[in-house]
Amino acid sequence: MKEKLMILEDLQEIDLKSDGSQSRIQDALSEIEALDSRLQEVSSAVDSKNAEIEATENERKALEENLALETANITRSEANLKGIATQKEYQAVNKEIASAKKLILELEEQILQKITRAEELRAELATMEGDLSELEQNLGVQKAEIQKRINNEQAVVATDVKVRAERIKAIPPGLFKRYEKLRESRRGIAVVEARDGGCLGCNMQIPPQMYNNLFKGEEMITCPHCQRILVLKQEKLV
Ligand SMILES: [Zn+2]
Repeated sequence: MKEKLMILEDLQEIDLKSDGSQSRIQDALSEIEALDSRLQEVSSAVDSKNAEIEATENERKALEENLALETANITRSEANLKGIATQKEYQAVNKEIASAKKLILELEEQILQKITRAEELRAELATMEGDLSELEQNLGVQKAEIQKRINNEQAVVATDVKVRAERIKAIPPGLFKRYEKLRESRRGIAVVEARDGGCLGCNMQIPPQMYNNLFKGEEMITCPHCQRILVLKQEKLV
């Protein structure tokens, strides 16, 4: 039984180490995800800036079309003036021309505003694109570093998987099953040290007779409070 307990203890150590690696790998993956979503954010801000510029340009074009239309109207009306016989009609056409000219002034003012706005937006876009490319560069470096960390952890886990399989082979399947169940229900810790008459897993006292039996090493003893498998501090397997 002593031998089996030592193997269990070793298994526990390997599994805790692997749990630690897995959780660091998960953290690293979340870091990569966060970096990617930051990039996505800046990239979509660039997209919407581009869309805003396009919309402004389209508005300008529409205004310019109106301007061309009004200018053509004036030319036509001015040509018509020559053929007009009555004073009343003459005045009416002149009035039309005057209001078209007023409209043209307004359109020109609006077009100018659109041009200015588009220039502002382009300047903003240039800054954003600069930020984006800087971010992309930094991201590459940061992601490579994180990936290196992940690879290191995975290499450690891969080595331990072999040792773990050997340890499992060395104990009865029923015992391993029990160990796994305990790990599931006891936050990953199935084997704990007993010291000074107590369980270090739940910090409760163990009945003295039970504690004494641990020293004999004849049977597997579990904590009556947390059900974990108790071991005394002993030499590690090599
Ligand atoms: Zn306990």
